[in-house]
Amino acid sequence: MNNLREDAELVLLHVEDDTAAGRLAKAYLADHPADDDEPVTEEWLCSVGAKKDDVSVFFPSPIQGVPAIEFSKEQAWLTNEDYAGVEIKLKTRGDVRRLCAALGIEMKSVCQVPPKGWRCTRQAGHEGPCAALPD
Ligand SMILES: [Zn+2]
Repeated sequence: MNNLREDAELVLLHVEDDTAAGRLAKAYLADHPADDDEPVTEEWLCSVGAKKDDVSVFFPSPIQGVPAIEFSKEQAWLTNEDYAGVEIKLKTRGDVRRLCAALGIEMKSVCQVPPKGWRCTRQAGHEGPCAALPD
């Protein structure tokens, strides 16, 4: 997957954005962010809009009966009480993004990490510290 990402970046260096090859490369890069193969972490999930309670970090189901994604003990899972024993481990941020898209779970594009009263000016899931400003 990384090789295709490098290929897409190389294509954009050599062709105009509005050519067929340029559009294809841009579409690939939009669907495969640089951190797509990175492991799922609690901090990253919160930055893209997951909720947190005393037990775990999770995306609630948008529709009753549709499974949700839960993160605990350093692992992300597709979970649903109706499917006890059937859990799908989500290894990468890309796995979570594609599952959220399939389930209709909306992920945030702006960082959600800072507490109420503050906002971060960086993209959701960014590396390093927040650039937080008073809201
Ligand atoms: Zn941030």
